[in-house]
Amino acid sequence: MNAPGPNISDSRAVIRQLDDGIINRIAAGEVVERPASAVKELVENALDAGATRIGVTIADGGRSLIRVEDDGSGIAPGELPLALARHATSKLGGGDLLDIHSFGFRGEALASLAAVGRLVLSSRAPGHDGAAIAAEGGAIGPVRPAALSRGTVVELRDLFFATPARLKFLRSERAEGQAVAEMLRRLALAEPQVGFTLRDITGGEERVILRLPAESGDLSDARLARIGRVMGRDFAQNAVAIDAAREGLRLTGHVSLPTFSRGTGVAQHLQVNGRPVRDRQLLGALRAAYGDLLPRDRHPLAVLRLDCPVREVDVNVHPAKSEVRFRDAGLVRGLIVTAIRHALAEEGLRTSSTLAGAALGAMSRPPAAGPHQWQPRRWQPDRPAPAALRAAHAAQAPGFGEAAAGFAPSARVDAPAPGGEDLPLGAARAQVHGTYIIAQTADGVVIVDQHAAHERLVYERLKRQMAENGVAAQALLIPQVVEMAPDEAAQILELAGDLARIGLLLEPFGPGAVALRETPAALGEVDGAALLRDILDELAEDGASRTLGDRLDAILSRMACHGSVRAGRALRGDEMNALLREMEATPRSGQCNHGRPTWVELKLADIERLFARR
Ligand code: ADP
Ligand code: MG
Repeated sequence: MNAPGPNISDSRAVIRQLDDGIINRIAAGEVVERPASAVKELVENALDAGATRIGVTIADGGRSLIRVEDDGSGIAPGELPLALARHATSKLGGGDLLDIHSFGFRGEALASLAAVGRLVLSSRAPGHDGAAIAAEGGAIGPVRPAALSRGTVVELRDLFFATPARLKFLRSERAEGQAVAEMLRRLALAEPQVGFTLRDITGGEERVILRLPAESGDLSDARLARIGRVMGRDFAQNAVAIDAAREGLRLTGHVSLPTFSRGTGVAQHLQVNGRPVRDRQLLGALRAAYGDLLPRDRHPLAVLRLDCPVREVDVNVHPAKSEVRFRDAGLVRGLIVTAIRHALAEEGLRTSSTLAGAALGAMSRPPAAGPHQWQPRRWQPDRPAPAALRAAHAAQAPGFGEAAAGFAPSARVDAPAPGGEDLPLGAARAQVHGTYIIAQTADGVVIVDQHAAHERLVYERLKRQMAENGVAAQALLIPQVVEMAPDEAAQILELAGDLARIGLLLEPFGPGAVALRETPAALGEVDGAALLRDILDELAEDGASRTLGDRLDAILSRMACHGSVRAGRALRGDEMNALLREMEATPRSGQCNHGRPTWVELKLADIERLFARR
């Protein structure tokens, strides 16, 4: 048999050293994937040079032109050829790859860009005249004088003209342009004290896409101001401040309330020692922190900065340095997960302040066609309501993360409840459509979704019991025999030990059946067959990739749904008030297990506006 192999022939080819042009083009393939990555490299160079103002201009999504100007330290004329040479850098003085304090250190970016595009590097260092050097497809020209007052300008035209294969992988000009803007936002969030401008030239017309002035004040004020400008006021209003430290690591920043989420992870900005990263482990930790507060297809917003001794982290794992490796990955994950969980639990009842705005907006507009299903996208109103605007104003004050919605849950729970109006969720006045509890508060009206709220309460109760002595179970008078496929029965019985800890006592009952003997007391009377079916569904869902703890949490969450006050059940006044008081006392009760809010408050002032009373 003579199967043709790759390039196996009789005439053996000799081994040859690749020439620099090819080496640079190969390296460029790793460093410069698309215009946004070229912009990243150039802007990082400007930041390393201590720039305070950085201007980026692109044309045709960055394909025909990328220009980055800075007011940084500049390059002396004699060093210009070296700047374009491969593996030439001014940033690795000691040659220690674990002692890195700059964005760059590999000395590859300019050489790579010069190999795949037409590049002109002009610069002026203090005490020198301005000078420029040009390179095209790797061929480097002489150093010439250039008129320039200070700093550096890199102009890159016709990116990838020398590597047409790469051109084919680029997306539309619009998509590439957006990626450039996104990249700049990521860098801008990490460097609030530097001013950034992004301009786009289309059809000869220049437009400013992004203008972020250098933020003044101390670093934390500057960061907050920059976050507001980049992420929008909605985020500022619905953010929770994070500040936690452990064993030399420090995590600071802001994350969104679970009721303020997005359909993708685009709004998750993570920085390690000031370097923006898209690191899977860190993103996974962020996700895990929201574990049972958000459904799997919703994503929190976040701007988080992790600071650690430089020796704890290796940034040299990927040419673009977007992935990092920690010496103690478990420690980092633990810090992120606990810090965020703790901060969210402290928020207790708080739900997205934009919800009430959305509700009021919908009331003052004609009703939309079709059923009013929960749609996360609608949570973000196209324009903020007056209450939201006021909250936005409040959000500018220091410490906005703690209590923009206006109450400190645990502090007031124990207060006596005569009328209850002074309590956060007020005094229950009515139940409507057998589904919603209407309560009166000091300055507004609260509407509670009784099913969603009760489901969360039952879930939190189950989790609490599990963390303490195990979930309290109650024996069924007559064990319930539930039939299922033999392999399903085997699968669920395999977990019998763990399920017993969460209050479900199961026994084998011949092939294809199990006997349910005990169920969690907190659930009250449940339909055992439906409950087990749900647990099987949960197990079928990508179970392998999750830890046992996560799976048990997910099972608890599903069980809670079975034990909840169903929509449609009439509640007495004392039952309604009891539900409100328990919500106030229970952490994370502002959203149900699917990330939906459990309640909204309409302020009297806004209701009055609806009726044009103001
Ligand atoms: P690296 O950033 O890894 O050092 P680069 O190829 O990006 O590699 O840049 C090579 C060198 O050129 C840098 O080390 C720096 O000395 C110089 N340089 C590049 N861009 C600038 C700039 N905007 N201002 C000042 N010096 C620069
Ligand atoms: Mg660089």
